Amino acid sequence: MFKEDFPYFKNSEITYLDNAATTQKPKSVINAEMDYYENYCANTHRSSFGDANKATLNYENARVSLQKFINAPKKEEIIFTKGVTESINFIANSFAKKFEKVIISSLEHHSNITPWHMQGRSLSKGLEVVSCNENLDFDFRDYENILKENPNSFVSITHISNAFGKIHDIKAIIQLAHKYNSVVMIDAAQSLAHMSVDVQDLDVDFFAMSGHKTFGPTGVGAIYIKEIFLKEVDTYQTGGATINEVDFDSSTLLDSPYKFEAGTQNIAGVIGFAKALDYLSNIGYEKIEKQELILYEYLDEQLSKLPNIKFYNTIENSIGSRSFNFKNISHDDIGILVDKMKVALRVGHHCAQPIMKQLNIKGTIRVSLAFYNTKEDIDKLIKALKKALKMLA
Ligand code: PLP
Repeated sequence: MFKEDFPYFKNSEITYLDNAATTQKPKSVINAEMDYYENYCANTHRSSFGDANKATLNYENARVSLQKFINAPKKEEIIFTKGVTESINFIANSFAKKFEKVIISSLEHHSNITPWHMQGRSLSKGLEVVSCNENLDFDFRDYENILKENPNSFVSITHISNAFGKIHDIKAIIQLAHKYNSVVMIDAAQSLAHMSVDVQDLDVDFFAMSGHKTFGPTGVGAIYIKEIFLKEVDTYQTGGATINEVDFDSSTLLDSPYKFEAGTQNIAGVIGFAKALDYLSNIGYEKIEKQELILYEYLDEQLSKLPNIKFYNTIENSIGSRSFNFKNISHDDIGILVDKMKVALRVGHHCAQPIMKQLNIKGTIRVSLAFYNTKEDIDKLIKALKKALKMLA
């Protein structure tokens, strides 16, 4: 029913089950990007002719849309970036480097691991990793022990694991961090496609978001920065549009968000991102969450009937992605065969090698759903998997 809104599904016969990698884009998002390029393509915050004013207005309206969407108190707290990877690197370099300890979990995406290595951190130096149990649940006891030993730390944790669909209880994670005077950034790359978020209710300090994982364009994302930290975050790049006054000896910066958005931004992308949020608001998360739960349970039920399948977590407190392997069968071979049957999924380590190592595997077969998927998609997947298993037997 929802697929009608997405041109990709009209143009492709692929059964698309790789939504954790990127989501498809509704027509309204594509139209908004095209409209900018075809009808009012001009730079923002600079020139004063009509199209330039329109571009600036739509860009700034997009900021307000995202502010409202996550219930941020002020639009100045929303800074557009290229995506979650840039958001995390930005905060790592411009703020978190001042902290002696950074705390992450064992279920992180590489984008929330490697930026810390760039600062010379490792397990023996400046980086602490909270373990997850055999069902991949966040170990709160381990977390509290780490916080007790290392108060005043910077905590950077993913909300939903892209590799396994596990949802971390981020509200509890944030509360506990604050109890030990620590600051928290949440990697929300996988969040907004599946559930609504209220940054005030969470009391989160930094919240990193991705456009392309949220039915918006690629190359755009954002970071929410709680107002009290805006003056403490340094700029890690400056240039056009960030400054107040410049001479050859020095320069003064504008206030947030402009001082953080150096150079010409992804204007069409930002406008498209806001359209994706409008699209989600029009459907409503109640409907989205209900539809996804039905699909997720159906997926689990159907996969569970396949012989010699191994999952790594139960579906409780999980959404979107389901990861598994078949005994004595390479996930890569499954990937190659189902591709020939026009089923798109991802096999491999899903940019989460450390947790794969902990589980003693090279990777998994990952099926990742969005609300526009259907039970028929899952039936096609199961048919393809059965055929592939027969060929590999
Ligand atoms: N964090 C998680 C959990 C992800 O799933 C991804 C993308 O797969 C990223 C970070 C990186 O996001 P982006 O593509 O917006 O840089």
